[in-house]
This record gives sequence, structure tokens and C-alpha cells, in this order.
Amino acid sequence: MKQGFISEQTVIEVVKRCVAETLRIEEQTMTPSSSLIKELGAESLDFLDMNYRLEQAFGIKMARHFLLEHVEEAFGEGSAVDANNQLTEPAVRLLKIRLGDHLSELKAGMEMDEVPALITVQSLANNVLDLLDTLPECCPSCGQAAWKTEDGARIRCGSCGSTAAFTNGDELIRQWLKRVQEEQRIFAS
Ligand SMILES: [Zn+2]
Repeated sequence: MKQGFISEQTVIEVVKRCVAETLRIEEQTMTPSSSLIKELGAESLDFLDMNYRLEQAFGIKMARHFLLEHVEEAFGEGSAVDANNQLTEPAVRLLKIRLGDHLSELKAGMEMDEVPALITVQSLANNVLDLLDTLPECCPSCGQAAWKTEDGARIRCGSCGSTAAFTNGDELIRQWLKRVQEEQRIFAS
């Protein structure tokens, strides 16, 4: 369900804090559209650390695999990235649905290695918000609809005290991919 406990603004602030801690930079140097790699200097290992911090802050499980890896798993080798390590047309369509049409650098033939540079503070926040929206209506432990948050980031059951359980990031990407494929038939299957 669409959760109403944690605002987008809060998520962006926490993402900025986590990124700042990982990269040891000032929060003020970032905007939502900052590319973590191109503008903030993140390297691939930094993403593990940032994801870990976000998981701790919100009680979620971030995806371990990028969207394109899920595509190849679901639709076969070569479906997202060709033999030259360049993005296929269907992969570009999918990334535009996911990340927005405004990304002019996103086109078929783009090197796969350049894709992570598209990750911004905002896109990371969107991933967190999508995960938070998997909050079930009622607490799985006691059946009550009594979610609440005390620190503005962690959701807990106000009735039995259980921490909220969310769908994990990789599972959520698989579900999203399946839905988009059913609606738009992006990949030949
Ligand atoms: Zn409960």
C-alpha cells in the first residue's frame, strides 16, 4: 500500500546523510539530481555501504542486483546487454520507464559500464520509497492496522511492537519487471 508515514522529503534527507557518511563529503554538496558516481565520486563498493546504511535506517532490504541483471536472468543472456557490452534497445526502453525519459544519455549502444552513473540521490530515494510502499495494510504478527513511526524512518506496529516487514529489493524488481513486461511486451519471450 502507499505508506503515509515517511515523506519523500525525509527519505531524501536520510539518503543524503547516508551518502555523506559513506563518501565522507558534506551533505550540502548534493542535490537530488547529483550523480553518485559522476558528481560525488562514489565507487562500486561504496554502494554496498550506502545500501547497508539505508537498510539500517529504514528496516528494508535493498536490491543486491541491478535491474539489467534481473533482465538477463528473466529473458536470457543478451537481452539487456549485447556481445559488445552495450545496451540493447529493449533495455533502454525499460530503463527510461524506470528512471525517467529526461535522460538524454540513455540510448541503445550506451556502454553498460556507464549505466551506474545514472544513479542519483533521487533515484536512490525512489528505490527506498518503492520498498516502503510494500508495507502491508495490517501487521502480519497481530493482524492490527496500527503502524506508526517514532523516529520518522522506522515503522513499527503500535499494537504488538513488531517491526514492519517489507518486500525485499530484488523481489520487488522482479515483480516490477514482470508487470511492465505483461503490459508492454518489451522483450520477446
Ligand atoms: Zn502487530
